[in-house]
Amino acid sequence: LEFKNLNISEELQKAVEDMGFEEASPIQSLAIPQILAKKDVTGQAQTGTGKTAAFGIPLLENMDKNDESLQAIILCPTRELAIQVAEELRKLAAYMPEINVLPVYGGQPIDRQIKALRKGVQIIIGTPGRVMDHINRGTLDLRTIKTIILDEADEMLDMGFREDIEYILQYIPDERQFLLFSATLPNEILQLAQTYQNNPEIVKV
Ligand code: AMP
Repeated sequence: LEFKNLNISEELQKAVEDMGFEEASPIQSLAIPQILAKKDVTGQAQTGTGKTAAFGIPLLENMDKNDESLQAIILCPTRELAIQVAEELRKLAAYMPEINVLPVYGGQPIDRQIKALRKGVQIIIGTPGRVMDHINRGTLDLRTIKTIILDEADEMLDMGFREDIEYILQYIPDERQFLLFSATLPNEILQLAQTYQNNPEIVKV
């Protein structure tokens, strides 16, 4: 599919053009319309298939540009991935100056993150341990979250983050869109989807 047939704003069209994307990848063609329609989606896609933009484009499209509160949280297994996802979102949001994106990961001084959180961000991309740390310190309020995304969910479960993820989910409103991306869909991922998602669309490439 071409991006202009995907019902996305001029700002996003321009950004994907600047990034050199010519047409939507298979995971993007399948997932973007479902996510734009506010469905919960479980997507099976390897790294390199364009999975970040598959959730990033519709996430940015659906954001409330007039709402300065925290609207979305993306959980990633590693700091490297959190930084990479934040960079891709910032590029996609190049023409949306009102959108602030912040990676929140372990190993970085927490004071700096607390300051950045206080200034107001709409999207955070975090590793589970550090996100829990902020919740416990009272420096991260998840009550205004409208979208949660698990990126590389199979990797997070392999690294033992299941309990942390479930802890974080307790703080997120029940009325939310829940997206899950994973390279593989073993039983424990399908169980997680079954437990926390609402009639998920399963998208595979
Ligand atoms: P990902 O699978 O999200 O790690 O993306 C892999 C790489 O492909 C990243 O450098 C993206 O910027 C790039 N990419 C994503 N979508 C497209 C697309 N539709 N056309 C060309 N490159 C893309």
